[in-house]
Amino acid sequence: MLSRNFENIQASPSILGFGTMRMPKLYSDKEDIDYEKAEAMIDYAYAHGVNYYDTAYPYHDQKSEAFIGHALKKYPRESFYLADKLPGWFINEKADVDKIFETQLERCQVEYFDFYLCHALNREKFKVYEDLQVCPMLGARKEKGQIRHLGFSFHGVPEDLEYIINQYSWDFVQIQLNYLDWERQDAKRQYEICKEHGVPCVIMEPVRGGSLANLSPDAAQVFKDADPEASVASWALRFAASLPNVMTVLSGMSTMEQVEDNIKTMADFKPLTEEEQAIVEKAKNVFLENTLVPCTGCRYCMDCPAGVDIPGMFRVYNEYRIGKFAPGFMQDYENMKDHSADFCVACGACMTHCPQSIQIPDKMEEIRKCYSRLKNK
Ligand code: SF4
Ligand code: SF4
Repeated sequence: MLSRNFENIQASPSILGFGTMRMPKLYSDKEDIDYEKAEAMIDYAYAHGVNYYDTAYPYHDQKSEAFIGHALKKYPRESFYLADKLPGWFINEKADVDKIFETQLERCQVEYFDFYLCHALNREKFKVYEDLQVCPMLGARKEKGQIRHLGFSFHGVPEDLEYIINQYSWDFVQIQLNYLDWERQDAKRQYEICKEHGVPCVIMEPVRGGSLANLSPDAAQVFKDADPEASVASWALRFAASLPNVMTVLSGMSTMEQVEDNIKTMADFKPLTEEEQAIVEKAKNVFLENTLVPCTGCRYCMDCPAGVDIPGMFRVYNEYRIGKFAPGFMQDYENMKDHSADFCVACGACMTHCPQSIQIPDKMEEIRKCYSRLKNK
């Protein structure tokens, strides 16, 4: 399997990495991992050249580290790369950093981590690292050989990424990137920031939590017409892996079928051609056009006499339509309080101002019903 060389990385991680946050479970309402099924998936991946395995302290209710430690123990330690992450939100004092790190080594049954990340940083979450001088502590672990490469995973805006990347000598950065978020969520800018700083990227959510494997039928058809043999998800993986500053593309695989399909895509990886990039663009546009309320956020419709935050409500709804993450949608809806679709009285005053000719009262009714359906499930 392809492995890219980077000046500051003394390792050859495979272009496909195995994320262990969505392993098969024993019970639907608990996070206990089904060791038998999950280990078979790890073994298959290992046998087919995947050598990068990514875990984190909180995954699967803190059971992921122990699982991956168990699954990889039978292989020579130098034959795989293990990535783990420090949960800054559990750190109240310096001693917590050491306590967590030692626990992680023990859970994973290893003496060092090949890749170690400060987990889910943004400017606010980085504050504890600055206040308690956590990075030098991790640097000391690196000196001792317990961390081979130090980086951070990032969930925030490009300005915060630029700030954090300048605060320490990082070896790599993990960012969320996929063809849907490339422009919409600044993934392109984040990728460029890493590249400008000479720091390779690990990619998370290349299939956007699975939503790019389950596109609308018309969008999926665009891919099927171009290559009937390739899965819809394979285009998303190839999009991310085609970027030259990408070291590894993580996929949080949940079934053996996904493992097999991802390996089929990446075992003999070929970057997207210009023609294929255009196909991705086309499928993306079909998906967005038919899935989203075409609100541009221009605010010509505001202020609503009933107090509805019209563009805000459409933004929240569109996020849900893309990601299908019901708890996030419901939380955002409730956070809008008396500015949500609940308060639309269908007066129609907004409609004459909307350059996109959106049937705003009808859409508000649709959103309200969607929320109420999810709430009553
Ligand atoms: S139709 Fe609904 S959203 Fe539009 S102005 Fe009237 S109350 Fe506000
Ligand atoms: S006028 Fe139309 S496009 Fe502009 S914010 Fe309002 S709903 Fe969205």
